[in-house]
Amino acid sequence: MAKSKDLDFDTKVIHVGGDPDPVTGSIMPPIHQTSTYVQKAPGVHYGYEYTRSHNPTRDRLEECLASLENAKFCLVTSSGMAAVSLILHTAPKGANIVCGDDVYGGTNRLMRTVFDKQIDFTFVDTTDLKKVEQSLKDKKPYLLWLETPTNPLLKVSDIQKISKLCKKYKALLVVDNTFMSPYFQRPLDLGADLVVHSVTKYLNGHSDVVGGAMMTNNKNLHEKLWYLQNSMGPSQSPFDSWLVLRGLKTLAIRMQRHEENAIKVVKYLEGHKKVEKVIYPGLKSHPQHSLAKKQMSGFGGMITFYIKGGLKDARSFLKKVKVFKLAESLGGVESLSNHPGIMTHASVPLEMRKKLGISDTLIRLSVGIESPKDLIADLEQALK
Ligand SMILES: *Cc1c(COP(=O)(O)O)cnc(C)c1O
Repeated sequence: MAKSKDLDFDTKVIHVGGDPDPVTGSIMPPIHQTSTYVQKAPGVHYGYEYTRSHNPTRDRLEECLASLENAKFCLVTSSGMAAVSLILHTAPKGANIVCGDDVYGGTNRLMRTVFDKQIDFTFVDTTDLKKVEQSLKDKKPYLLWLETPTNPLLKVSDIQKISKLCKKYKALLVVDNTFMSPYFQRPLDLGADLVVHSVTKYLNGHSDVVGGAMMTNNKNLHEKLWYLQNSMGPSQSPFDSWLVLRGLKTLAIRMQRHEENAIKVVKYLEGHKKVEKVIYPGLKSHPQHSLAKKQMSGFGGMITFYIKGGLKDARSFLKKVKVFKLAESLGGVESLSNHPGIMTHASVPLEMRKKLGISDTLIRLSVGIESPKDLIADLEQALK
């Protein structure tokens, strides 16, 4: 078969890491559900010693995910937060880290309440390049943590320009690419040093696995992360890796449909009198619409909107939706609705939420791949 770098994305998701089993020819990879591997003599083995360190099924997934982000290296972890933790553990004691002010609630919590003992964190609005440069100049951070588009407000930051600033001030640039998936955005191509994903979301896509991944072209950083993963233990199980390999095969067509459906839902919501404002990077009214068009090859399946009224109107809507199941998480084939203030972002301090606009009337939708007609009918009955 052609070298993976010569294949199109839609072929890579199906074939990279997917060579047939050499012993039986089975077209789907075996699940190497084993903790250990027999050695021929002490220290003489097939390259595998223990599954925390390496596993053939996880290797296949890492090979595929690396190729999707145009990376040389990938590590797959037992959750997105495990990947975030390993990355933070690479920071030297007393280091500074600059982080976007509107990131995943769990990332914010991990930084402010767990890693705050050994790292000094500064939160900045990464859509403002002047503020980004000032923070790099003042703090000389070990790394800058970027989420774009952000969760839940879908603010878009300029990866290429920020990567240039990071190089100037010798900070690593880490991008959490969970919301776009490599189908719509490839941060390493834009100058980032490391990409992190919650595999739980679009990459797996079927809401049946929790997992994380880190991709990079920096061998030294990759080796540090592998050392930490092996020492601390959050490697993904073989069965979960196998499920993600299976889910990945449809990533390209799922992302297309997520976006098509999201655009239809956005149009519907924009025309509804009970909706105050719709936030979606594909809208001309989005403050970073032109950057989004340049940096991403699509606008994704996440929508945020403000419902008119107060908390009781938001609650009533979220109790009435039937197809849009009320649940945390995102990126699965099924549509989900969420109240960030009460659910995913409750751990973010109230003051910070207020400043950002995570209010009582903010609702986040993860638009699935169901029939758009049924999705819109569901919203229609819930907004009544
Ligand atoms: C869900 C999520 C995470 C955390 O991943 P888990 O798999 O839930 O541990 C990190 N970043 C973003 C943007 C997420 O949506």
